[in-house]
Amino acid sequence: MRPFTSTISLDDARRRLDAAVRPIERTERVRLEDAVGRVAAADVTSPMDVPPFARSAMDGYAVIAADSAGATRSTPARLRLVDRIYTGQLSSVTIARGTCAEIATGAPMPAGADAVVMVEDTAKSGSGHEIEIGAAAAVGQHIGGRGADIAAGDRVIASGDLLSPSRIGAIAAIGRADADVFAKPRVAILSTGNEVVVPGGTLAPGQIFDVNRFTLSAIVSAHGGMAEPHHTAQDTVAALLAALDACAAADLIVFSGGSSVGERDLVVDAIAARGEMIFHGIAVRPGKPTAFATIGSARTPFFGMPGNPTSCLSNAYILLVPFLRALARLPAHAPHTVRAPLGRRIASAVNRHQFYTVRLREGVAFPAFKGSGDITSLSQADGYIEIPANESVVEEGTMVAVTLF
Ligand code: AMP
Ligand code: MG
Repeated sequence: MRPFTSTISLDDARRRLDAAVRPIERTERVRLEDAVGRVAAADVTSPMDVPPFARSAMDGYAVIAADSAGATRSTPARLRLVDRIYTGQLSSVTIARGTCAEIATGAPMPAGADAVVMVEDTAKSGSGHEIEIGAAAAVGQHIGGRGADIAAGDRVIASGDLLSPSRIGAIAAIGRADADVFAKPRVAILSTGNEVVVPGGTLAPGQIFDVNRFTLSAIVSAHGGMAEPHHTAQDTVAALLAALDACAAADLIVFSGGSSVGERDLVVDAIAARGEMIFHGIAVRPGKPTAFATIGSARTPFFGMPGNPTSCLSNAYILLVPFLRALARLPAHAPHTVRAPLGRRIASAVNRHQFYTVRLREGVAFPAFKGSGDITSLSQADGYIEIPANESVVEEGTMVAVTLF
């Protein structure tokens, strides 16, 4: 055994992680269908006006506004209908004084007209070739002018923008079918441990199913990374070195297990041989044996997560997610928090910042934490509360801030 001689504070760990992030530079072109949640890698400037022509914003009649001056429902202006204009077609008619054209929403304005009166303010009379305009129109009314939405030369997307559904819409509006985005960081995920077996098969005595491969892959995918799971590595330095080498092409490497101080926890030795340890051991609970290092001449960031599934996933939320999002150039994650009274007293570890999972029942937060090795500490919780290192007890009834998963 090689016990931790010291741990660093959570704040210190966060500072070191922030200092180590090198946001991804690689870019790629994706179809708009695949662009949601991606980060634009270049400004997008419109080559065209949107709309490309002046169009009606209402179903109604294209008129000359002056013809409707003073019109009311009881004293309507009467205009002769000279055309019907549907979307996707141009009218060959020029609207002259005393005439109008029926027009659909989105159809190009005919020459001569300078306003649209919506159909609700009109009536047909005579054989249907005369339209009664029951309200005075203002010049420009219900017309979407050419370029009113986007003018040629306008920047519709700035490099670094998160591509939301509406921004994808703006790119589509200017006729582009794809977008240049930053590549998703490739995140190698690798479980270590002689006892760890991928689910789907059967267990020999002493074996357990791999949980971390799946929780880590899921959280990486959810926060802008490309999860690349690797084969499980045995607990030998040689196997771990081979595993590290197999992950060399990744932008970020995440191992789980073997980062503690048991005699088989050899991740530390593997890092010593291949890179530089930035920290090992954080004053948090769960998740104290977490390590962070850089590997090789590329200085690829490396997380050594604890093997205990709840410790592993908890620290993935707290440390890996912010790091990965910064790597991917995504905005910081802002989880929702709710305030609730604590339903039962909690005793916390002294000198360790504790993340304590809770279940919300009728507005009350009940402790849900079982043990660091128990995935149900998380899977049956709604969120967690934080108990700072200098507090050892939170009494029942205390109002706590619950960060929701
Ligand atoms: P370690 O960090 O390797 O000392 O492992 C701590 C505990 O977590 C041990 O009980 C391991 O069997 C368990 N463990 C390690 N890796 C995994 C994994 N990938 N999935 C589930 N449990 C694991
Ligand atoms: Mg292990």
